[in-house]
Amino acid sequence: MNLIENKERIFSQVAQAMETANRTDQMNVIAVTKYVGIDQAKALVDTGVRHIGENRVDKFLEKYQALKDEGLTWHLIGSLQRRKVKEVINFVDYFHALDSMKLAQEIQKRASHPIKCFIQVNISGEESKHGFAPEELDALLPEIEALDNLQIVGLMTMAPFEASQDELQAIFAATHQLQKELQKKQLKNMPFTELSMGMSRDYDVAIANGATFVRIGTSFFK
Ligand SMILES: *Cc1c(COP(=O)(O)O)cnc(C)c1O
Repeated sequence: MNLIENKERIFSQVAQAMETANRTDQMNVIAVTKYVGIDQAKALVDTGVRHIGENRVDKFLEKYQALKDEGLTWHLIGSLQRRKVKEVINFVDYFHALDSMKLAQEIQKRASHPIKCFIQVNISGEESKHGFAPEELDALLPEIEALDNLQIVGLMTMAPFEASQDELQAIFAATHQLQKELQKKQLKNMPFTELSMGMSRDYDVAIANGATFVRIGTSFFK
């Protein structure tokens, strides 16, 4: 494993995907450090990575405590149990997995300042996946809008592991379409300008479909 080479390769592939998509807007690469310990995460930060993502609260806090003075942006990307919200939420710059109203209410209660959140949507309808069904959102948005400690920056989605290229394309395109529709509504505390999608195996397809945050783990550490 050569972290510098991996980082260079990923960032140049991301730049290539942006160019292919004719995009000049801001793209954010989140390095998902869940596979490694603090030393490797620190080594990756030393290569110039600025966004760190973890999917579990205990691992998030461990990395955060060790690296909080590095000027990084901190992403909690995995599902969050309500009872753990108070331990972690005020250290999180972006929370990517808002998937229930009860969780939204708990964040409202425990946050000491507005937290940037992505609403997770389950576009494929896969049962094992977290997230709201798109058709649920219209009814829920007014309730979430009332929670002023949540700033809904956009949508997050995950494609099924076994999705074909065509399915990936369809899922990411549908998520992009939904994001644009929600952005147009101009709801309070809900800019909906961002799209969190794309992992090691599918970030090129996600970038072609408007992703502004990609969450990449495996490719950094192989
Ligand atoms: C682990 C994880 C990723 C990164 O996946 P890789 O395939 O390792 O790039 C992205 N998003 C979430 C929510 C994850 O848990």
